[in-house]
Amino acid sequence: MIEAILVDKRKEKIDGRDRWVVTAQCPTCEESRTVAFAGWSALICPQCLREMHRPKPRRGRPPSGGTRPSRSVRIGDAEWEKAKSRAAARGVTVSKYLRDLVRADQ
Ligand SMILES: [Zn+2]
Repeated sequence: MIEAILVDKRKEKIDGRDRWVVTAQCPTCEESRTVAFAGWSALICPQCLREMHRPKPRRGRPPSGGTRPSRSVRIGDAEWEKAKSRAAARGVTVSKYLRDLVRADQ
């Protein structure tokens, strides 16, 4: 089962009324089309004729394509060593130190 990629949720005037629409992109062939935001559970890609399911809303990742900063931190070896010594200085574990760092960032 493949899931449609929903991006760019927006309001469009359809038949004189504002409706929520979204761009559904086929993950297989990247064909995209505008569909109603709600009221459907699957659609057929007009290009490759695969059935795509509507993805379930994910917590914290709205299909609006909004750019939420990722909470995971990627660090290099040098930064890891730095974090390790700072964590040791505070008497906490490195992962706790990094978690606090992320929290302070928000
Ligand atoms: Zn397709």
